Amino acid sequence: MFDEVYQIYEGTVFRPPSEARSLILQATIGCSHNRCTFCISYRDKKFRIKSFEEVKQDVENVLPYYKNTKRIFLADGNALKIPTNDLSKILHLLEDNFPKLERVGIYACPHDVLKKSVSELKELKKAGLGIIYIGLESGSDFILKKVRKGALSKQMIEAVGKVKEADILLSVIFILGLGGKKLSEEHAKETAKVLSEMDPDYAGALTLMVVKGTEIYDEVKNGELELLDPRGVFQELRILIQNMNLSHCVFRANHASNYLPVGGTFPEDKKNILDRIDRILKKKDVSFKPEWLRAL
Ligand code: SF4
Repeated sequence: MFDEVYQIYEGTVFRPPSEARSLILQATIGCSHNRCTFCISYRDKKFRIKSFEEVKQDVENVLPYYKNTKRIFLADGNALKIPTNDLSKILHLLEDNFPKLERVGIYACPHDVLKKSVSELKELKKAGLGIIYIGLESGSDFILKKVRKGALSKQMIEAVGKVKEADILLSVIFILGLGGKKLSEEHAKETAKVLSEMDPDYAGALTLMVVKGTEIYDEVKNGELELLDPRGVFQELRILIQNMNLSHCVFRANHASNYLPVGGTFPEDKKNILDRIDRILKKKDVSFKPEWLRAL
């Protein structure tokens, strides 16, 4: 069974932690940006949008095993790049074939959101697009430029505004430790500021993983970037949470890259989250996840 299913994927497939139980279908291959200095995910793939016929074939292949799936995640890197009419056609295909489908998720680059009008996004929502995941990574423009994210905080906030106007669920992801020791405080404060302005439905924290083959790996090797240790990561997270003011947001730092899981719902759990971080920081012998167990 699984051999057949796995053959539909081209290369390694990535998805957000909250899509762990979702059926993953590749509507695009790779990432059209593919320039972020910390990201190794799609370096081995040349970006392309799969044809409708290819996606249809994938659906036919998995249907005998996943007909009752409730959630589908459209990979790879930024499938929102697909022209609206074509993406709408794919969403209708999913709706027609999976009778219990409740939600379709997708990764999006801010530029791809900005290229779509709010009415296009509303059309996609009507066709079944339930949640968009955007990688903010940092709220600091200095760090965003440094890591070659390809967008600054103002554009990210604008993109998020459109997603919210279209009434599509929004999940924003950021990376703890991305500014290293030197920029840790700026990273925490600016990220909290931008997240507060975005006021997303979900916010997810990953922790920087330095992977050979990326530019950030070379920076660390050359001593240009000094990494935070696990305690430093939690000190950074504390500043971030302290400065984050959200009206209703599920916050999670439970990705495989995180040293310890932390989470809760804003605003009511903010104090509990801070207390948990304080307990972690006070303890002398905390069992942080060892480096060899952390993963992308
Ligand atoms: S972080 Fe996202 S936008 Fe940047 S290269 Fe990786 S997949 Fe592409």
